Amino acid sequence: MSHVFHRVLTRELPRAVRADGVWIEDEDGRRYLDGAGGAVVVNVGHGDRALVDAMTAQSAAIPYVHGTMFTTEVLEAYAEDLAHILPMDEPRIYPVSGGSEAVETALKLARAYHLARGDEERTIVFGRRSSYHGNTLGALDLGGKETLRRPYAPWLGRFEHVEEAYEYRCRLPEHPAGCGAALASALESAIVEAGAENVAAFVAEPVAGATLAAAVPADDYWPSVAEVCRRHGVLLVADEVMTGFGRTGRWFGVDHWGIRPDVLTAGKGSTSGYFPFGFAACSGEVFEIVRSGGFVHGFTWSHNGVGAAVAHAALRRLREDDLVEASARRGERLLKELAGALEERRVVGDVRGLGLMVGVELVSDRETKAPFPRSEQITERVVAASREAGLLLYSSTGHVGGDGDLVMLGPPFVISDEECDLVVERTASAIASVE
Ligand code: PMP
Repeated sequence: MSHVFHRVLTRELPRAVRADGVWIEDEDGRRYLDGAGGAVVVNVGHGDRALVDAMTAQSAAIPYVHGTMFTTEVLEAYAEDLAHILPMDEPRIYPVSGGSEAVETALKLARAYHLARGDEERTIVFGRRSSYHGNTLGALDLGGKETLRRPYAPWLGRFEHVEEAYEYRCRLPEHPAGCGAALASALESAIVEAGAENVAAFVAEPVAGATLAAAVPADDYWPSVAEVCRRHGVLLVADEVMTGFGRTGRWFGVDHWGIRPDVLTAGKGSTSGYFPFGFAACSGEVFEIVRSGGFVHGFTWSHNGVGAAVAHAALRRLREDDLVEASARRGERLLKELAGALEERRVVGDVRGLGLMVGVELVSDRETKAPFPRSEQITERVVAASREAGLLLYSSTGHVGGDGDLVMLGPPFVISDEECDLVVERTASAIASVE
């Protein structure tokens, strides 16, 4: 009997023993193609010596110092390098241990910013329905996925939610013309209704990931939303935990639309999974204001030097091997091939994505887009069939009023064309077998 409280309680998990590139091997010698990079995490691929060496060197030099007592050369050097890539002016980064902590930090930063400006009334934060920002209570509350919120509903309710940017099921009468502008105008109405002087921030994923499987917004969405936030003094927070560090084929998701958020969160790909890490970054302007008022926040593991060393090695790997460009190129190929391979599958409603963040939406009726009842467990069956065939997929369910089936691909950027073909082949046959 195991004494581990596993993430999965309904089946035995295989024991992973090694990994290299896009492959993971279990103790029985079974090899799995990591089509999802874990949970869309492992951007540079498994088994990268440079990241391991960076971790080892920093652990040997200084494994830990407290963030209130020291800074470290590795952290300073990482932030300096990262500043050139972040879509913000004179950014400052606040390193933490993962995405949820990054989001919590961003929320508090927004509050600290308005407090320092004397805008005490600016407390309302808008997230979006069907979004995901993490599982700690603040981040969960900001997220809009009902099935995740439901058990903890009595503890939630601080944050407001506006409509998600979700083209496949867009409800706007003018769709597909001007969806972005219309959603931005709905956000503006919500801000005005709440009283702009009471609104602190708007938080959104540049491309919705964990709960909508790579839902790419209309091109006018981000520019329109950014403009609304600016006009009302509402901080724009881009949650780039999944989209950051090349996942969508640009360094950051917002780069596709030339947006410069006030605050940006990162996690996952920042260290490609080699170390638990993430950060909230803010513009120099936001930082200076927060500095004037002080920032009451902190974690034991924040500003971690080992994390910074690994993150820096990951950043160098992405840059030196042109992996962001590889994500764009291979993502385009994967999307095209997958859409082709799934064309005849009547349970496939949509194949979408940007860079190596690709989603497939499964439906019971292509015409009406009606979802399968959740009791059919379609996603679970596709994921199981694919795992059986040696391909790991990421999944999400319940986004259409409790029903709804999504699978997502997010392989490491080092994936080869042949491995990409294997991903397409195995995904298509898993879906075909369930169909
Ligand atoms: N924000 C987004 C956009 C995410 O995709 C995730 C993780 N799926 C998180 C926040 C939370 O990150 P973590 O699981 O590292 O806490």
